[in-house]
Amino acid sequence: MNATMLGTSDEVLQCECCGKPDLKKTIVLTIGEDSDPVYYGSTCAAWALKGRGIKIAGPKLQKLAERVAAARSDIANQSNHISRLEAMIAAPSWFRWLNLASGILR
Ligand SMILES: [Zn+2]
Repeated sequence: MNATMLGTSDEVLQCECCGKPDLKKTIVLTIGEDSDPVYYGSTCAAWALKGRGIKIAGPKLQKLAERVAAARSDIANQSNHISRLEAMIAAPSWFRWLNLASGILR
């Protein structure tokens, strides 16, 4: 089993592993190469990650997953920003000139 932690979800609140309901959050994982994401409670997520040699207790894992989620959304924001810049660079030259003139692209 090759589990990867993607982050957390507060939309799915039932563990897909053991069926435990009413969780505050679930941890989003992929199990294996091209599996769809699964939503596990922190205990089951910790168990799944043990298969990868990651030994971490449920509550700590929850915090870590939240940080992973934050980092991922950061990366998403950055790449949005980059594609906007790329679009600007690919834009017609008059548009580029306009941006240069207004100091957006320096
Ligand atoms: Zn569970």
